[in-house]
Amino acid sequence: MNEPIKKIAVLTSGGDAPGMNAAIRAVVRACSYYSIECVGVYRGYQGLIEGDFEIISSRNVSNIINKGGTILKSARSLEFKTKEGRAKAYKNLKEHGVGGLILIGGDGTFTGGLKFMQEFNFPLVGIPGTIDNDIYGTDNTIGYDTALNTVVEVIDKIRDTASSHNRLFFIEVMGRDAGFIALNAGIGAGAEEILIPEKNIGLEKFVESLNKGKDSGKTSSIVVVSEGDKIGKNVFELADHITESFPEYDIRVSVLGHMQRGGSPSCFDRVLASRLGVAAVEALLDKSTGVMIGITENKISKVELEKAIKMNNDINKELLKVAEITSV
Ligand code: ATP
Repeated sequence: MNEPIKKIAVLTSGGDAPGMNAAIRAVVRACSYYSIECVGVYRGYQGLIEGDFEIISSRNVSNIINKGGTILKSARSLEFKTKEGRAKAYKNLKEHGVGGLILIGGDGTFTGGLKFMQEFNFPLVGIPGTIDNDIYGTDNTIGYDTALNTVVEVIDKIRDTASSHNRLFFIEVMGRDAGFIALNAGIGAGAEEILIPEKNIGLEKFVESLNKGKDSGKTSSIVVVSEGDKIGKNVFELADHITESFPEYDIRVSVLGHMQRGGSPSCFDRVLASRLGVAAVEALLDKSTGVMIGITENKISKVELEKAIKMNNDINKELLKVAEITSV
């Protein structure tokens, strides 16, 4: 495809994340700046298959930079996982004269996008939008900073009640495969313990550590648990185990759930999303394809989608040490 791109389509897919709207806005306005038409695709890949398209102009994205969620909606599309589904999507894009596609989403979104690109040689670029920060090739994903701030704010509130009643609180945060939210929010909120999937300390060591805290004079504790932590089947089972060892504590469990996805994006996420949105349009115009636009050491970076999907971010060992030292 060597003709210059005249129309770019943008969609949001997978789990929504605060800042996706700021990214959509930046894509739309960068298109306008470079005199290209922008098509919004509703409901992610499902909308691509159904032809749920609408031309979006700069004025259509006024007053959305501060809003959580995504004005384009998101959806999980089983049909896009089939070759027939992807063929329908390609036909719709061609019929609408779209020459490039911008995908805002996570790992699954990029996996589907990569397949689509390989099958139809269709130019596309990814923007990492997920609160989990579990995507290789970028220091931050859109929504992660906002989610951290939301979690810290809630833990601060829970701490008030925990310390008033000698309570031991288990607070489950999002992160089925990655403990980035738990580790960073845990440090930021001053948690006594942080349990993450990347570092399974085991029940015995965990009890030992709680005992140490008690012996040093702690009368209440906050334990931040990542969804994917490996001690016990889930946070409730973990709390049951601990109840047996610490009958003097009033043990409570709080599962923060979807509130972590919502809310107005932080300034960091708005700026990040704006930068990635502009860079994604510029990348397509420069004939880049099959890449994800990220941010590395505060500079725009590009990584092949294949790498972004296959490789994992390591947990920061220095942060693990800081968590251990600051909770004595
Ligand atoms: P989050 O990290 O927030 O969950 P995600 O982008 O990983 O976001 P998924 O639900 O895993 O979210 O993927 C989004 C969509 O991408 C799926 O609904 C599906 O349409 C498409 N997709 C995922 N995996 C594949 C695949 N192997 N082949 C084709 N399409 C896929």
